[in-house]
Order: sequence, then C-alpha cells, then structure tokens
Amino acid sequence: MRLPNSPVGWAIRITKILQVFENASGQRMYPVKIQDIAMDLSRQLFPDSPLTRITGEDLGGRFEGMLARVPGAANEWGIIYNTAIKSPGRINFTLAHEFGHYLLHRAELGNGQINCSRQDMLDWDSEYGQREVQANEFASYLLMPRNTFEQLIGKQKISLHLMQEVADQFNVSLTAALLKWLQLTSRRAMLVIGDNGFVKWARSSDALYKSGVYLQPKKELIGLPQQSLAMSRDATIDAKLGITHKPSTWPQFKESVREMTVHADAYEGTISLLLFPDDPPPRWHEPDEEPELMDTFDKFQDR
Ligand SMILES: [Zn+2]
Repeated sequence: MRLPNSPVGWAIRITKILQVFENASGQRMYPVKIQDIAMDLSRQLFPDSPLTRITGEDLGGRFEGMLARVPGAANEWGIIYNTAIKSPGRINFTLAHEFGHYLLHRAELGNGQINCSRQDMLDWDSEYGQREVQANEFASYLLMPRNTFEQLIGKQKISLHLMQEVADQFNVSLTAALLKWLQLTSRRAMLVIGDNGFVKWARSSDALYKSGVYLQPKKELIGLPQQSLAMSRDATIDAKLGITHKPSTWPQFKESVREMTVHADAYEGTISLLLFPDDPPPRWHEPDEEPELMDTFDKFQDR
C-alpha cells in the first residue's frame, strides 16, 4: 500500500487503522492517546526506523517537545516531551505534533533533530515554518475530527467552560481546541495569548479578519487593557464565561467585545477568547486605498 505524503493523508490513514482497532476491540478511539499508539504504529509501518522511545524531561520554558534519533541506536527515533508542562492535553497534542514530524520529516533530518517551542505549536497556517504548520495540521486532524468537534459544540453558548470540555474530550490543550474552533467557525472571534501585560500572539477567525480586525503584536507592542479580564483578576467574575466590554475597553477594536479568559500556568500566560458582534461596524471608506491588496499584504506580513 502506498504511504501518504501529506499531513491530512497521514491523519486519515491512522484514523482508519484506529477504527479497525476500535471495531475489533470495542474500545472507543477518542480521545486518541498518542503515547499508547505511536510506537506500535511506527514499528508496523517502519520497522527499519521505528519510534522506540517517548520520554519526559524538564525542558523548562523553552520547548514543548522534540524529535531526535535515539543515542547509540542510529536507526531508532525518540520523542521527548516537557514535564514542566502539567496539562495532559497539552502533552498529548505535543506528542501528536512530534509524531507528525516523525511521519513527515524524519527523512529530511539526517542526524539532526527538531525542537519545538510553544510558538511552533501555534503556527497553524503561515507561509513560513512549513514543517511546524504540517505537524500541527496532522495533530489537529488526527486528534480533533471536524464532525465530532462540531457535534460537541452544537448550538451551545460559546465559553471557555465549553471549550475546556471539548479540549478534555479530545485530550488536547485548550489552545489547540480554540485554534480548531477558530478555523471552523463563521463567527467573528479572536484568540489572544497574553504575557506579562502584553499581547504575545493573536489570531483572528476568517470572518473577523475579513472585517479588517486583527492584531500584529510582532510589529508593535500591544498592551493588554487594564480593565480586561486578562489583566484584572476579579474573583467575583466567572472569567471563563466572560463579560462584555464597552468599545473603549479594548481601544484597538472600536466595538463592544465579549472577553473570556483563563490564567494558565507560568509558561502559558493568559489565554483569551474575544467574541465580536456578528455584524461588523461600517468601515470608513477611503477611495484611494486598495483594501483587497492591503489585506493580502498585511496577511502576508503578519503570518
Ligand atoms: Zn514542531
């Protein structure tokens, strides 16, 4: 049988193998536990260059995981994940990401290895860093099939309580579940990762981006607003359910925004989901500007 050569192709192939196993054993395949399946699958598929180790190591705040050759056994591969991270879902997503590198990229590595940072895990659609995008695409398709994901969300009110439930169902990080939702949703929404009072990283859903709303923290320093939930830890507010801010609270947007936030661990900062009104405000028309071209250019610069 020909082997797949794309991230989605691999995710489909492995899903099919897991389905056969599910049918035979009666054990539910979701959540997919990469730790339990990756080494067996690699031995079956690639007996000449198997994945023989998955081990944890304290990598501090630098890396989420890595793929490397096993020392002293040149044809074998190993995955190391960061034990400083306590969230099982985040570790599972990282393992799927590294397994993706193993399936797709190990032939290019020679004796090298791949070290993956938190930033790499967020890189789902840029033109650059193709490897990281591919590893995330594989992990996302394998761990969170679209139909099941959309069924879980259904018509429920969007909150970080709901998103955490979805993340737990698939055994992925909250961030990974939010990125998946941002890819699928037709709503105007933004994921904002905050760190020490500043926006570290942000991503808009397509609908929000098309209405001209996005942040570019790599281009300019963007402070988190003092009244945002990301900054104020008001114990009387259910921050995962969120509150609606008036337009001046997040001055960048000029719209009212519902903000939901979790204060994650030391390596993760704050994770905020911003929901915007479905209908964007009318935009100021500047006849000399070519909005289509500008947007494409900005998108290119940003990603
Ligand atoms: Zn990576």
